[in-house]
Amino acid sequence: MRDLKINMPVKVSKIINMLNSAGFEAYAVGGCVRDSVLGREPNDWDITTSAMPEEVKAIFRRTVDTGIKHGTVTVLLGDEGFEVTTFRVDGEYTDHRHPEEVSFTRELEEDLLRRDFTINAMAYSDSTGLVDLYGGINDLEDKLIKAVGDPDARFDEDALRIMRAVRFAAQLGFDIEGRTKEAIIRHTEFLSDVSAERIEAELTKLITSAHPEKLIDAYELGITGVILPEFDMTMGVPQNNPYHKYDVGRHIIAVMQNTPATKMMRYTALFHDISKPECRTTDERGIDHFKMHAVLGADKAREIMRRLKMDNDTIHAVTRLIYWHDYGIKGDVTKRSLRRMMSKLGAENFPDYLAIRRADMAGQSDFRKEEKDEIYRNIEALYEEIIAEGDCLTIKDLAVNGGDIMKLGIPAGPKIGEILSYLLERVMDDPSLNEKSDLITLAETYEMK
Ligand code: ATP
Ligand code: MG
Repeated sequence: MRDLKINMPVKVSKIINMLNSAGFEAYAVGGCVRDSVLGREPNDWDITTSAMPEEVKAIFRRTVDTGIKHGTVTVLLGDEGFEVTTFRVDGEYTDHRHPEEVSFTRELEEDLLRRDFTINAMAYSDSTGLVDLYGGINDLEDKLIKAVGDPDARFDEDALRIMRAVRFAAQLGFDIEGRTKEAIIRHTEFLSDVSAERIEAELTKLITSAHPEKLIDAYELGITGVILPEFDMTMGVPQNNPYHKYDVGRHIIAVMQNTPATKMMRYTALFHDISKPECRTTDERGIDHFKMHAVLGADKAREIMRRLKMDNDTIHAVTRLIYWHDYGIKGDVTKRSLRRMMSKLGAENFPDYLAIRRADMAGQSDFRKEEKDEIYRNIEALYEEIIAEGDCLTIKDLAVNGGDIMKLGIPAGPKIGEILSYLLERVMDDPSLNEKSDLITLAETYEMK
């Protein structure tokens, strides 16, 4: 037990004190202790206690039976809830994911032993101080993710721990300890027993972390081979092209490192070149080309994200951005060409498009870098002007609508849409035309053609 003081929220101390006063042991445990020692803000504060669930419920006025079978009761204080779980020992695991049964114990030591990694197996209370029975503090200092006890047994019990290992490595910037790594390699096939939702949750935490490059560890350990074989196919695929310095897989990693750490942007980066392996052709000069990779990549990304059971909003936004990511801004960009482009992509998606383009460039070679930077600075300046001037970019922004066109004697039907599209084209070329009288005149002359 070390002399280490953790600043617990008042409500957590209060719950622990009330359990202590009733004669039970109680501690903050797991992630919150780990994060506090590291000086990181804990996600949530979990409490572990020798009190049985019924005993916990008798002490606190407002509780919810969150997972009573597994010993978890949520204690409500004010508008906050805290999970209080009875010390427990997991029974046999037969499906590589869930214990057949759990049994309760009065020993903290046994409860800590069932936890996945040494850095997650520490408990703390103000009166006892830190309880670190499995070397968690040492591993925090050494920046290591190390299984508690026999690593083979731990991954055999619960294969989700494999994903958790790389996810914590990425969030904390740690390495996975040697024997733990070897055991992971021997157990990756059991990842197929873990639900898609749980895999996706851990993968998302991994790639939206400060160290998305840890996906390479997942590749080397054979994890992506099971959960994301499409990524494995990009590793080592050459890009013999002056613009590139990395193979496709390593370029993908570099792009992830250069995008904002949101779910949408990081998945776009992960999948933006996912179809490059099958699109690769080499010309007579030995230069590689990847025609159609953005369009095919959008389809492939959609398929993978559906397999991972991701939410539709993310799937939609990511595939749209992948589809457009290679759409060229080449040569001279004018306000006119940029307005057209913003209209195609949807003006609201344009900042994301620029972010992915910039990240994509950052993951390339320095060939013509100055030139490319200059083009982007120019685009960003023009973009700001277009937004500031409030230019018309969609049919909805036109000074006329379908009803106005029908009043010219044109019947409801596809013709109306055709005319509105024509008017939008004209207005994007010359925003000053966006006046009702001008547009009506334009519509009439279009009709006479
Ligand atoms: P986060 O910051 O993501 O909340 P965490 O370590 O708190 O990280 P939780 O999923 O909230 O992770 O779990 C709380 C604690 O429960 C862990 O610190 C660990 O001690 C234990 N735990 C969670 N999942 C497992 C598991 N699959 N196997 C063993 N122990 C686990
Ligand atoms: Mg937690």
